[in-house]
Amino acid sequence: MILVTGGAGFIGANFVLNWLKACDEPVINLDKLTYAGNKDNLASLAADDRHIFVQGDIGDQVLVAKLLATHKPRAVLNFAAESHVDRSIHGPAAFVETNIVGTFRLLESVRQYWNALPSEEQGRFRFLHVSTDEVYGSLEADAPAFSETHQYAPNSPYSASKASSDHLVRAYHHTYGIPVLTTNCSNNYGPYQFPEKLIPLVIANALAGKNLPIYGDGKNIRDWLYVGDHCSAIQRVLAVGEVGETYNVGGKNEMANIDIVHIICDLLNAIRPRADGKSYREQITFVKDRPGHDRRYAIDARKIEAELDWRPAETFETGIRKTVEWYLANQQWVGRVMSGDYRDWISQNYSER
Ligand code: NAD
Repeated sequence: MILVTGGAGFIGANFVLNWLKACDEPVINLDKLTYAGNKDNLASLAADDRHIFVQGDIGDQVLVAKLLATHKPRAVLNFAAESHVDRSIHGPAAFVETNIVGTFRLLESVRQYWNALPSEEQGRFRFLHVSTDEVYGSLEADAPAFSETHQYAPNSPYSASKASSDHLVRAYHHTYGIPVLTTNCSNNYGPYQFPEKLIPLVIANALAGKNLPIYGDGKNIRDWLYVGDHCSAIQRVLAVGEVGETYNVGGKNEMANIDIVHIICDLLNAIRPRADGKSYREQITFVKDRPGHDRRYAIDARKIEAELDWRPAETFETGIRKTVEWYLANQQWVGRVMSGDYRDWISQNYSER
């Protein structure tokens, strides 16, 4: 049994679905169901006894203690977070509350649980914290990619809150001996991503005939990793990662935002051409830059590759094609998420277990 937090969100849901495809070890899925949490993502597990969904907050120590005592998971994987940089600029409080205070409370619950385990189970237990490359701040164009020893320099309330949580996780290992692992991954893309993030937003807006908004000059660079590859990296770290270590996870796919949008437009031009025969590129609009927008992130993933023998299965070319095809095939999902109707659908069609 493993306990996953935030498993109704983008990466968490992909992780749970992939996990239960690959093995029979049950999953307790604790998710608060914020705007970003969507049980529609888990609809294929509605009748699957290996998946126990619990709506709740990682900061609810009574609830988490009860879940730990009842199910005795061998690992806790913390995906739960407020994750959108733009939202953190407009309303940082929720980021402090969940990403910092929530992670702290979760760690406290885990500490109490772990202290009470027999010593051989203490040794087997893992707390895996899912984090981001944004904690390292912005890179100059010619600077080497972020390695695990790169100094933390978070620039947004989102990345600062994630950096704080990383430090707490580290401290719980050094101070209390909790067997922790941390992953810092680059930008993910793929199925079930909420359409406020660049790639699903561009696909959804393109199909809806809306503008494709690009910040500033569009030359901000990110490393992009297909979500299934992030999930396989987390599984690998959980299985064979060294306790107390952090692992950077990336796809060696540094791309400027404008190039990503061009690629999506060209894929859509080929797969689902506009009725008027024009290119989707005509919908691109440059908008005022995000305040404090980091220029470049790049991940040096040599440690996880060399020490844990992990490699991504997708190239950007194959991953982005899969993603565009998934969004085209799942227009109902997109429509429900964007209209908010999915919340009604959940209450009518999906009972808590
Ligand atoms: P997401 O916003 O899609 O999902 C977050 C999930 O956490 C949602 O289901 C939400 O309901 C849940 N949640 C939020 N607050 C909660 C709380 N207090 N208690 C319980 N559940 C709560 O985010 P995502 O993109 O899937 O990211 C998952 C994790 O991976 C985050 O920790 C994020 O920082 C990290 N990460 C994301 C990316 C990326 O590109 N998306 C890259 C690297 C790391």
